[in-house]
Amino acid sequence: MTNAVHTGGCLCGAVRFEAKGDPKWTAYCHCNSCRKHTGAPVSAYAGYERENVSFTKGALAIYASSAGVKRGFCSVCGSTLTYEGARWPTEIHFHLGAFDKPQDFPPKGQAFPEERVPWLHLSAN
Ligand SMILES: [Zn+2]
Ligand SMILES: [Zn+2]
Repeated sequence: MTNAVHTGGCLCGAVRFEAKGDPKWTAYCHCNSCRKHTGAPVSAYAGYERENVSFTKGALAIYASSAGVKRGFCSVCGSTLTYEGARWPTEIHFHLGAFDKPQDFPPKGQAFPEERVPWLHLSAN
C-alpha cells in the first residue's frame, strides 16, 4: 500500500490530482474556518509532502483565509480541495472527500477539538 498512487479531484472533474504513498497523517479538523470554507460541520484531511503530489488536470484556485493560509478550491464547481499553511511549509493537506477512495484514509486525530459543534460525536482516537 505504501507505494500506491491515490487519485482524486473536484466534483466537476476540472481539477484532478495524484498523491503517492500513504499520507503523513490523517485528522478531522473542527476549526470554525474549515467549517465556513466547506459548509460541513467538520472537515477531514490527509496530509502529504508536496513533493509526493501532482496536479494532473487543471489547477487550484486559492483563497487566502488568513496570513500564511491558502485554501484551494475548484474555480468551476467550487469544491473545497486543499489547505496549505505556513506552519507546514512542505505539506499540502487534502480534504478527504476529494479523494476517489476516501475509505482509504480513516481520520486518526482531531484538531481544534475545542471548536467542535457540541452535537457532533466522532469515534476517532
Ligand atoms: Zn470542479
Ligand atoms: Zn480547520
